[in-house]
Amino acid sequence: MARALGFSVDPVASVPEIVKMRPPSFCKGCGHSDTFNAVIEALKPYNSNGVFSDIGCYTLAALPPYNIITSCVDMGASVTMAIGAADAGLFPSVAVIGDSTFTHSGMTGLLDAVVKESNILVIISDNSTTGMTGGQKSHATGRLQKICEGIGVAREHIRTIIPLRKNHEENVQTIREEIEYDGVSVIISTRECIQTATKKKKSDRT
Ligand code: SF4
Repeated sequence: MARALGFSVDPVASVPEIVKMRPPSFCKGCGHSDTFNAVIEALKPYNSNGVFSDIGCYTLAALPPYNIITSCVDMGASVTMAIGAADAGLFPSVAVIGDSTFTHSGMTGLLDAVVKESNILVIISDNSTTGMTGGQKSHATGRLQKICEGIGVAREHIRTIIPLRKNHEENVQTIREEIEYDGVSVIISTRECIQTATKKKKSDRT
């Protein structure tokens, strides 16, 4: 702020030599990582520049080695941007949104897609928590299927995958099948955040 107002600002501290700069990345074993690996593989046969995404830990897939996210504007915008892009002729038009962001403001966009019969795929990367802000309860937990059905997505096009390395081929296949469906489809990719799962295990032991 001071710099923006034209004041000179002394650096608070210099970074010691021993500290190596490195970009932020997913925790080891994070389900978002396996979800994006499957999305990247599924999109290979298409002339795709990437996916519309949203705000959460999963936004890290905008960075290497994934480089798959092309937009992150505000909470819920992944879905509405995918609708706009599909309207403009983009195929496949894929949005990736987290479970708590989806219940915060992605549901409204999904309703829009259903009413407009947009040809989009929405992947809800469900880590069953609000990982980005420290693991608060997610309103989506246990409700995603019913919410999507209630909004009007056809039941047979609400699919669930488990983002684990051993399921990679199967998950790629499911994503491709739903890309090929001419309409609104949702894939719920569910695996609990490794941080909250570890905390729960520890508190169960005490
Ligand atoms: S906090 Fe959870 S959701 Fe976020 S990167 Fe780590 S494991 Fe993934």
